[in-house]
Amino acid sequence: MLKSKTFVKKTRSGGVLKVVREHYLRDDIWCGSETCAECKQDSTVLQRDACMESSLCPYPHYLVPDTNVVLHQIDVLEDPVIRNVIILQTVLQEVRHRSATVYKRLKDIAHEPGRHFYTFTNEHHRETFIEREPGESANDRNDRAIRVAVKWYSQHLKTPGSDPDGLKVVLLTNDQGNKQKAEENGLLVYADIIVHRLLAVAIGADSTYADLMDKHKQSALCNNLNYRHKMSQYAQRASVAFHTQLFFKARGILNEEGFVLFVRKNAIIVLIPKFGLEGTVFFTSKNKVSPNLVFDEEGPTLRVEQHTFHIFDRVKVTISLDDSNIQHQKIRMALIEPVVRKA
Ligand SMILES: [Zn+2]
Repeated sequence: MLKSKTFVKKTRSGGVLKVVREHYLRDDIWCGSETCAECKQDSTVLQRDACMESSLCPYPHYLVPDTNVVLHQIDVLEDPVIRNVIILQTVLQEVRHRSATVYKRLKDIAHEPGRHFYTFTNEHHRETFIEREPGESANDRNDRAIRVAVKWYSQHLKTPGSDPDGLKVVLLTNDQGNKQKAEENGLLVYADIIVHRLLAVAIGADSTYADLMDKHKQSALCNNLNYRHKMSQYAQRASVAFHTQLFFKARGILNEEGFVLFVRKNAIIVLIPKFGLEGTVFFTSKNKVSPNLVFDEEGPTLRVEQHTFHIFDRVKVTISLDDSNIQHQKIRMALIEPVVRKA
């Protein structure tokens, strides 16, 4: 079917030009849905089971974002949790005119097979193409075209006697006017806030409030969480150290069997299985002459004078509480066996 539109236009030089615009409308544009038995499509993009991990939407649904949602919420659309989205030709054209960057990002998402983004050429579909009405702005005409396409999809995918909780087609808009007109037409609408909420749900925060979606506030929130996590780790370590010290303070000096867990350049780290305690036996200290140490990274081994330590060697150590600095009490480990002394 051919629709033609004739109008006259004044040129820059002052002449009058007759313009004939032809617009072909077709019957062979398919809906792209797996659930459809009517369209003669070879392959489909939109899934039958189009459920998001979202408690918000208990029923399967396809999302149809309007131009402003694409332009301003492209970050949200890029989130992998958002799947089964219908991109209308009207929206695609408006986005292309308004932002080359967003247009490219949208095309990139649409090319990811796992995302199930379907481009529907509603402007060439016989049942979804609309003419601009007298006095109607181009903007209003496009908004209406979007609503008409959503309505068409809803009816097209509704099978006789179908489940009322079955597949729904949902218009995503943050335009109050568009939302109101869509609701008057009985269309399902998710306002902007709901797009946010979907992402909130996606990240496991099953409720919505504006601050959560603010990049800067989100970043501040993350910093605070990281800070608190780090502090709780410090507190945990300090608590373990404190109770270990209390335990050994009451027992005086103990001789225990242990195993070498790691060897370092000037020390061995020993595990005492009886207490589940790890400690370090140093072979160098500020006040003493150091023994002869040879560290072999490859082993790894550490030779102390005539003795070579390997990982898992059995050793005996003394464990005691060093309270010479009351602010920094420490568990000290010293080697008893094997005896290392200068040759
Ligand atoms: Zn179909």
